Amino acid sequence: MTYVCPVCGYPHLREQPHHPGAGGSDEICPSCGTQFGYDDWTGDDHVWRAKRHEELRRKWIAGGMKWWSKMPPPTGWDPVAQLRNIGH
Ligand SMILES: [Zn+2]
Repeated sequence: MTYVCPVCGYPHLREQPHHPGAGGSDEICPSCGTQFGYDDWTGDDHVWRAKRHEELRRKWIAGGMKWWSKMPPPTGWDPVAQLRNIGH
């Protein structure tokens, strides 16, 4: 079971980024570098969190959609296709 990054659309997160009432997973998305529950901490406010994700996404796009992790990206990694999958 994998999860989709709400910021960049990376589809292979190992944990659900947010559990209702339990904060973030602390996992760092290897694609955009967002740490869930830290970079996007908003308590349990979904509207605010969505705005925060939007901001982080804009920054990542403005920075050239670079692969964040020191580990190499999956073969054929395509940041544009990722974003398209989450509706951007
Ligand atoms: Zn991401």
